[in-house]
Amino acid sequence: MRLLLLGGTSEARDLAGYLVDESIDVTSSLAGRVARPRLPVGPVRIGGFGGVEGLRAALSEYDAVVDATHPFAMGMSANAVAACSAEGRPLLRLERPGWAPDPTWHYTATHEEAAALAADLGERPFLTVGRQELARFIPALGARAATARVVDVPDLDLPPSWELITSRGPYTLDGELELMRRHGSDVVVTKDSGGTFTWPKMQAAAELGAAVVVVRRPAAPAGVPTVHSVDEALAWVRGLS
Ligand code: NAP
Repeated sequence: MRLLLLGGTSEARDLAGYLVDESIDVTSSLAGRVARPRLPVGPVRIGGFGGVEGLRAALSEYDAVVDATHPFAMGMSANAVAACSAEGRPLLRLERPGWAPDPTWHYTATHEEAAALAADLGERPFLTVGRQELARFIPALGARAATARVVDVPDLDLPPSWELITSRGPYTLDGELELMRRHGSDVVVTKDSGGTFTWPKMQAAAELGAAVVVVRRPAAPAGVPTVHSVDEALAWVRGLS
């Protein structure tokens, strides 16, 4: 049983570790977006497959696929559904749960809506939406004193009033409080990424009375068995062999 594990998340790294411990033949796949990715244990391949056709071709080397990509990595998940269905490979989606909704948060369907809402809710936004989405915030927030936190420097010119911070979680509550106080952040914008690594900013926002804007997750691919924990994914893989 040769397993392809589509990763880029802490859950995928955890799962790879357990599978390697059990001597299951797993190859982790990363998109290659960040300069210094945290690598899982075991074999790793890096870079896109070349769309659905490329992934279909790659599946000749694998018997099953676990898609443990980030909840917002819609393109990869859709390709996995199409390629696995075409090649008759079992596919499991491992998706970490979103954060339990807080009645004080403001949800939006798109990043553009989040930008417009953040402009209404505060003067000094703290943008934690990822490098790839930042351009979508410039029209509404380009004149604000925004703080944008990303893993790697984005490939675009940011407004002069924005301050860029490059760092990578996990974060601490003390660190987030200090950062938000220093920047005077009065509205936090985030994807509904879920998990614990970036949760402290939500606690810090609550403590400081900053508004929170949460971009909802895109719809999950239809018809794919889905689990929400690494343990459940491990049980699914064990059941394959
Ligand atoms: P995406 O829009 O769904 O994917 C775009 C393309 O990148 C895919 O079609 C595929 O290229 C390639 N790709 C994505 N994930 C891959 C993987 N694990 N292995 C090989 N190729 C992959 O994805 P994204 O939102 O840019 O995210 C890229 C990666 O970063 C994902 O693996 C995800 O788990 C991780 N990540 C994303 C976010 C986020 O907010 N989007 C946050 C944290 C981590 P081809 O079509 O050429 O195969």
